[in-house]
Amino acid sequence: MGAFDDVLAANARHAEQFRRPHMEGVAAKGLAVVTCMDSRIDPLAMLGLQPGDAKILRNAGARVTDDVLRTLVLASYLLGVDRVMIVQHTRCRMASGSEDDVHAAVAAAGGPDTRSLSFLTTQDQPSAVRADVQRVLSWPYLAGRVTVGGFIYDLDTGRLAPVG
Ligand SMILES: [Zn+2]
Repeated sequence: MGAFDDVLAANARHAEQFRRPHMEGVAAKGLAVVTCMDSRIDPLAMLGLQPGDAKILRNAGARVTDDVLRTLVLASYLLGVDRVMIVQHTRCRMASGSEDDVHAAVAAAGGPDTRSLSFLTTQDQPSAVRADVQRVLSWPYLAGRVTVGGFIYDLDTGRLAPVG
């Protein structure tokens, strides 16, 4: 059994039913969402969106990294994005311990010494969200082009709380 057999079989069934939707590459709702890779989050369902509506950018902790900024420049100038949501979530592994805790957890799982990596953990999610909102707003390539909002998503209630 190959590592991807289950999903490739599911894709074959998907393709049998597939009706080519007439979607453009631009985000139909002008929206980009930066959120965590946590598999408990379904970004489209969370926001009442359909495929084609928004650009979804995901990483560990929903942090605004250089790669997120690079992607938002393209999303803004080429893909119709004029508003950006940054959505962290409750019970995030990246907000439940220090950098040292995560390095130790990787080591305890049999991993290598990761101390040369920054996992961008935070002990204060609202402050991290506010800092990341500001990071997008002050990114020169995006100056004045996007509205940015920060939020925390509650995994237990499904509710988004704005971070003011
Ligand atoms: Zn997370």
